[in-house]
Amino acid sequence: MQTETIAIHAGNLTRSTTGDVTAPISLSTTFFRDEQGGYPGGHMYSRVSNPNRSALEKVMADLEKGADACAFSSGNTAGMTLFQALAPGSHIIAPDDMYWGFKKQLQSIFEGILTIDFIDLTTTATIESYIQSNTVMIWVETPSNPLLKITDLAAISVIAKKHQLIFACDSTFASPCFQNPILSGADIVMHSSTKYIGGHSDVLGGILITAAKNEFWDKIRNIQQIGGAVPSPFDCFLLLRSIKTLPYRMRGHAENGMALAKHLAAHSKVEAVYYPGLPSHPHHEIAKKQMSAFGGMLSILIKGDAENAKKVVNKVKLFAQATSLGGVESLIEHRASVEGPDTKTPQNLIRISVGLEHIDDLIADLEQALA
Ligand SMILES: *Cc1c(COP(=O)(O)O)cnc(C)c1O
Repeated sequence: MQTETIAIHAGNLTRSTTGDVTAPISLSTTFFRDEQGGYPGGHMYSRVSNPNRSALEKVMADLEKGADACAFSSGNTAGMTLFQALAPGSHIIAPDDMYWGFKKQLQSIFEGILTIDFIDLTTTATIESYIQSNTVMIWVETPSNPLLKITDLAAISVIAKKHQLIFACDSTFASPCFQNPILSGADIVMHSSTKYIGGHSDVLGGILITAAKNEFWDKIRNIQQIGGAVPSPFDCFLLLRSIKTLPYRMRGHAENGMALAKHLAAHSKVEAVYYPGLPSHPHHEIAKKQMSAFGGMLSILIKGDAENAKKVVNKVKLFAQATSLGGVESLIEHRASVEGPDTKTPQNLIRISVGLEHIDDLIADLEQALA
């Protein structure tokens, strides 16, 4: 089946006895046992599994062309679970331009447990020189946050396979509609479902999808079930509802993203536009190879300094000045001040999550703010 069909049907796991076409929310924390002590409904206790979460995991595994998925209460928890599943003393390779929350986790929570090299993964030639005897994983984020760098998934896969490393990819910016890292050789795909998958800025969630069910995946499932950082049935219901329109929302995000990137690239107040769909993007050819469209995230450098950039985000009326991304409403932020004093993000960088409003209204709002 094609993506649009999977998105609508793959989460309909059960036909309820009351005839609901849309699966009801199963709030029960516990489930009946039968005379033999089994669980005829397939569920025992809601932390371990429940019908809404199983449906969410099924549709996400199918959309990402994976074998199974684990849903979590946030994207950060999804990533942390993966890091927790690695043996203490392991070394991992991660991108220099990495979602700052994960960088913070690795540097604080996993200090003394894991060692990490944060390197530029877009130049794949140098990666092998960082591999040590205790290296176990290459973590990739593409497109990256906030510089929209593109990492060549197929090239990373070759290196990971040669050295028997786990290849994991944070694919949040691409969504499962525009990029399926498993098809390029990734072992694990991660999404913050708070973003495009939820799509309405009203639910927090994260998900890991595996290419294969294996011993490492059992560890992840175990941390999910015993650790218990799981989404509620209602959160899962909201995500399942959102996923049904995900492919169509993503088309709108990508169409608006491309139009806005082109417009801003020609603007006299803008020094640079980072959007992988622009032929001027340094990794445009790789993006074209591994993505079917380029999404709704872009960053721009304003001519001038932090003050000039802050003026623009304070002057917009339609864009909401707020962090996060992937919702139907457009968001704008001065990224460096969100990330704090030790950030490497350029001070004149503005990150934009292009929503689904009419492109003419979005352009008009940015025009008046840049004027
Ligand atoms: C938001 C985000 C995360 C973290 O997800 P939360 O749901 O906020 O915990 C991880 N990676 C990327 C690329 C993100 O944008």
